[in-house]
Order: sequence, then C-alpha cells, then structure tokens
Amino acid sequence: MSSRKKIDSSPETTEDLERLQLQGLRWTVEHAYNNNGFYRELLDGAGVVPADIKCLDDLRRLPFTTADDLRKGYPLPFLSVPEEEVVRIHSSSGTTGKRKILCYTRQDVLDWTDFFARCLEMAGVGLGDRVQIAVGYGLWTAGAGFQAACEKVGAMAIPIGPGNLGMQCQFLVDLQPSVLCCTSSMALLLAEEVHRRGIADKINIRRVIQGSERCSSAMCRAIKRLMGAEHVFDITGMTELYGPGAGIDCEHHSGVHYWADYYILEVLDPVTLEPVEQGQTGEMVVTTLRKEAAPLIRYRTRDLTRLLPGRCPCGSIYPRHDKILGRSDDMIIFRGVNIYPGQIDEILSAVEGVSSEYNITIDRRGGKDFMLVRVERAIEGDPSWDEETEAEIRRGIKEEIMVSAEVQIVDYATLPRSERKSRRVFDRRSD
Ligand code: ZN
Repeated sequence: MSSRKKIDSSPETTEDLERLQLQGLRWTVEHAYNNNGFYRELLDGAGVVPADIKCLDDLRRLPFTTADDLRKGYPLPFLSVPEEEVVRIHSSSGTTGKRKILCYTRQDVLDWTDFFARCLEMAGVGLGDRVQIAVGYGLWTAGAGFQAACEKVGAMAIPIGPGNLGMQCQFLVDLQPSVLCCTSSMALLLAEEVHRRGIADKINIRRVIQGSERCSSAMCRAIKRLMGAEHVFDITGMTELYGPGAGIDCEHHSGVHYWADYYILEVLDPVTLEPVEQGQTGEMVVTTLRKEAAPLIRYRTRDLTRLLPGRCPCGSIYPRHDKILGRSDDMIIFRGVNIYPGQIDEILSAVEGVSSEYNITIDRRGGKDFMLVRVERAIEGDPSWDEETEAEIRRGIKEEIMVSAEVQIVDYATLPRSERKSRRVFDRRSD
C-alpha cells in the first residue's frame, strides 16, 4: 500500500464514523509497518501484522508508544514517508532533554486545517469575525493552526502572538476583534488588564477560545465577566497529534467533542493500561487514522480525562470527553492519595469570594507531608470573610479528596500570573 491514504470524508452517522475508524486503523497500521523501521520492530515484537487488524477491537492487540519513543527517532521520529514528502515541521519543548519535532505532509497540513476549522465552526466563528490570535507562532503549532483554520472559515486573522498586553489592548479597541484565542493564563491576564484600564465597554470580544492548559470554571467566569465575553471554549490538542484543534466544546459546554474520524481515543488506567470502567478517569491514549508523515499508534498522551456517555444536546455525532483533569505527570502523591491540581481548582470554583488563582505548596514537617493551598481573594472580596472562606475550602478538600490541607487567603493579584502556563504546584519535599 502506498503512503497515500484513501479515507472518505466527514461522517454523518455513528455507523459512518465506525466504518471510517476501521478503515483508518487498518490503513495506519499497514502504513506504519511498511514505512517505518521503529514501528515494524515494535509490531513484530508484539506479534502483530497489519492483516491481523480485522475489527476495531483489534486495536487492543497493538503495542503502546510514548514520548520516549519520539526521542529515540530524533530529529524526525515516526517518519513514515520519504523525506521529500515532508512539507513542514513543528516542535514543542520537551520537559526534559531534546525537543519533540513532528513532521507533516501536504495532506497532513490540509487535514489539520480541516478539523481545526470544524473547531472554529463549533465555537460559532466564521465569516465577519475578527480573531485576535494571541498564541505562539513559529515552531509552535498553535499560531499556524489557528491562522489556517481562521482563514478557512473566512474570518479575519489578527496574528498578534502572545504577550505584550499593551498592544493586545490597543488591538482589542482599534480593530474590534470578536474572538480571542490564547492560553487561559493569558486570557485571564488580558481580562484583568482590560478591567484595570477600564476599557471593557470599548472592546467587542464575544468568544474566547482557550487551550493548552486547564481552565477552571472560576477562571472561565472571571474571563467572561471582566471582558464581557459570552462564551469561553476549551480547545484541545498536542503537537504529536498535529497540534491544537483535536477537539472543542460546543455552546452547551457539556464536554469536549473530539474528531473521532481523525483519531481513536482510548481512556485507560495509567498503571494497568486496561480500559477504565465507564465514566472513570484515565489516561488518554490516541491512535491516528489518517496521519501520513508521523502516524501515532496507541500513543500515551499522559493527559487525564473521562469519556462522557450519550449524545450532546447539540446533536453532533462526535463523541465527547470531559475537560482535561490534568496530566498524569502533574499528579501529586500526598500521604498516599493521588491528587490532580484540577481537583483543587474545581473545589475552589464552587467557593464564593475567591479569585481563580491559587497555588499548592507541599512540604515535609516533622516527617509528615504538609499541604498549603494559597488562594486569592476575589477582586471585590471582603477580607473579614477570610477565616470562614478558608474553613469552607478546607472542608471541601477534606470531603472531595479526603486529605487535610492548610488554606490561606491572600490579597487579589498577589499570586504570580503568567502569559503562558501558570505553575500551580510547588513540591518542596525533596528540597
Ligand atoms: Zn455539543
């Protein structure tokens, strides 16, 4: 089989979707096996040949891949086409060691643009919209992805990039963009700046599309309130899986619709690698269905989420997963209990009188783990309520996560803000 894939276009029913998935899965396994030495060795090692893939359940016979495998194939890992067919590369910062570099064929770029444009359509962005794209351009996937999708749906792209709050505010006023795309940290920072400058009534942002990090309900509310936006959408994705645009929530905000005709999502127990019980949280493992240059087979993303059952009220056939709860790498083991920062921010989101900003410090005192959660008071919060609020949060953490934590309310805007991803956890136990 050639490296050119032959997959039908967008599905209209769930049956179409399953047919496409099987077609794509068989193509991907054959393509990777025939055109990439690493994959051939991996599949041979697992005793699987492409002809073994007869139904979707056969996915479970396939071996896993990880970020470590990307490092082994540096600089063009998983390359499964002749190099001259690669038209672009993107890169993300590796947390340790070398960067991850992923490559794309011409068709990969078109496919990515296609499903990214679906994200914008689902978020109600199209003709007549002006989109301030405040994410990284260059090697990063985000800028290029938003830009191409924006142009595909016929909106006007404003490729401003991240940072520079002064210029961001000036563009918000002068160009009247209706859509803002950025990380949730950046959205909050910009919303606070808009508030500080008192220009909320001079701007026209209706929709915010935020990605690359978790946006708690409280953060969402703050962004909407300070900027006067109607909707904040969560866009998902990662460089290995083309880039952002792998899924987005619709206006019902009842989970993230993901493009199951481009990849299969499994949610597995990160320890046993078996499927979790329905509705339980586990690690997202993805298998691409059409990716030519660098296909993924059961790639462990380390992101944690759960699948949501049933059909969304919007009627879309695309399945949904919950908000990303965090990364398995961010998991804190505290007195034997597994804790994700996402659990803490959901508790805080239900508390009145606090802002969305918090951080967690873990320490050892007298041989015992000790957790301090610092939370900012809301912008108009009353300090005389601090003691009661602290007690409420302590109770919430005890009830939801079953651990004891110290809680301290601090003044608004005293915790550090970031234009990229905010650091939430400071583990000082090994210091
Ligand atoms: Zn929906």
